[in-house]
Amino acid sequence: MKPGAASPQRVGMFGGAFDPPHWAHRALAETALQQLGLDVLHILPTGYAWHKTRVLSPAVDRVAMCHLAFDDLARVKIDEREIQRQGPSYTADTLHELRREYPGAQLFLILGADQLLSFRTWVRWQEVLDLATLAVANRATNIGADAPLDHAVETDLSQVGLPFDRLDMPLKNISATAVRARLGQAAQSTSTLEVLVPEAVASYISTHHLYQNPT
Ligand code: ATP
Repeated sequence: MKPGAASPQRVGMFGGAFDPPHWAHRALAETALQQLGLDVLHILPTGYAWHKTRVLSPAVDRVAMCHLAFDDLARVKIDEREIQRQGPSYTADTLHELRREYPGAQLFLILGADQLLSFRTWVRWQEVLDLATLAVANRATNIGADAPLDHAVETDLSQVGLPFDRLDMPLKNISATAVRARLGQAAQSTSTLEVLVPEAVASYISTHHLYQNPT
């Protein structure tokens, strides 16, 4: 930051596997920037994802696709710290670091509804709640590979019993799982992929032959 520049007061953190980043991730980032009035939004591709059961694509590809998906949004930073961290990477650690980097700022953790529902399984989740305000976008109940794009039922968050702010975003029934599954079907070409991911991400996937064996 330039000397004398005001330090950011409202700082967002948006973590994910981004394997690959898709239109719903992009919509969530835009919604958070706007509705929370963020000064900066850190987008953090995860390193070792303790909560995912499959092996993620190489970090170098996921980072490159994040740049393609988000770089044109003002006030966004693609933040590689979780990838560079040795061993398991926890949100609580990242939030402690952000708090040190932005003293006095209000921190927001941006999530989809599925992550809010499993939030109590997160390592040191109470610490996360102490450090950041959860900002949650709703997500369809069915987010699997076969989820229909045109029909989505909202997840009921009324019984969650955790404090959170709602982000008001139209439901987008897109998941990275569905993108990978679609690419694994031999007859699909990447041209049909653009309803799911930004064009530059679709081209990257094609050039680098990603997701040919979906997981
Ligand atoms: P996968 O299908 O591989 O599990 P994903 O599509 O859920 O991946 P992640 O990278 O795991 O994508 O998600 C990062 C964050 O974005 C999470 O907080 C998740 O809830 C949120 N998110 C992803 N897709 C959507 C969506 N369609 N609507 C709302 N939030 C979403």
